[in-house]
Amino acid sequence: MALDILSPASAAAASQSEQPPAQMMALVFHGPGLRAWESRPRPVLRAVGDAVVRITTSTICGTDLHILKGDVPSVTPGRVLGHEGVGVIESIGAAVTSLAVGDRVLVSCITACGTCDTCLRGMRSHCRTGGWILGNTIDGTQAEFVRIPHAETSLYKVPADADAEALVMLSDIFPTAYECGVVNGRVSPGDTVAIIGAGPIGLAALLTARLLSPMSVFVIDRDSHRLDVATSLGATAVVNSGTSDVVAAVLALTGGAGVDVAIEAVGSPDAFDTCQAIVAAGGRIANVGVHGAPVTLHLEKLWDRNVMLTTRLVDTVSTAMLLKLMTAGHLQPAPLATHRFPLADVMAAYDTFGDAGRTSALKVILNG
Ligand SMILES: [Zn+2]
Ligand SMILES: [Zn+2]
Repeated sequence: MALDILSPASAAAASQSEQPPAQMMALVFHGPGLRAWESRPRPVLRAVGDAVVRITTSTICGTDLHILKGDVPSVTPGRVLGHEGVGVIESIGAAVTSLAVGDRVLVSCITACGTCDTCLRGMRSHCRTGGWILGNTIDGTQAEFVRIPHAETSLYKVPADADAEALVMLSDIFPTAYECGVVNGRVSPGDTVAIIGAGPIGLAALLTARLLSPMSVFVIDRDSHRLDVATSLGATAVVNSGTSDVVAAVLALTGGAGVDVAIEAVGSPDAFDTCQAIVAAGGRIANVGVHGAPVTLHLEKLWDRNVMLTTRLVDTVSTAMLLKLMTAGHLQPAPLATHRFPLADVMAAYDTFGDAGRTSALKVILNG
């Protein structure tokens, strides 16, 4: 049933009520290094295009760890974190016609109105009234309930029997890896591709790059477990940056030419330097990583190399396509889910995810 909470009559009724607002539990950011699982008011509809979703599956992103380090100043103390999730619509604004209470939905990490100038250019990440706001400038998905603005263009209805762990990978990491890495890097049949960083994003870039039949995909990381996973997911060769000279190794793998596409999936000056050193003439460097420090652009070496450098925040314009591929079995994100916790144990889940070198965590699934 659609809730008509915005009518003057119901607002008046609410203000006369002595009932305290319903509560829920949520993972709340309290400043750098500080987080708590605590009681918060349950979100309610605020605009006719909103939906409130009961979270059934969520996960933690590397970006959440950046937030906890204090790297993302737009996130202020008191914010509920999380921008990935699967859930069921609990209540819905009067203007939403294509979704209904009880629908199972995938929450996109990008909230988009679908009608502003940037949305109409396909650049939903820079929507005038949305973009990456969940778990950033509005409360997010690591909670029992979340309010989603622009519900009609920010939620995807999914089959009741679709695998929740695979679905939740489509909130952020698969569209991000595909759009910012594979599409912007223009991965094409026959290309040589190097992916710097074998975290969840790098591995998702590997899986989605392979959809386009590159000749080879090399994966570089310093964690041997992650490199083993990359091999199991189809990497042509892996290079351990902790024990090998990466640039020499990649040049040797490509007969001295370098790679057609270098995907930066770390967000560090070192990883960006590696991309610049291994890109072939005519190649593309596609940055995916979140950078918190300046990098050096080696234009003195690249000016005559016909290279292209791209940056992007995910626009989630590929989400519906990726959902179809997943449903058809052509994309299998499930191996990236390594650990599972009840949502109520999200504090322990953060400890496990934040210590991936020891725990070998990739994506940590939170079950509501
Ligand atoms: Zn994320
Ligand atoms: Zn918009």
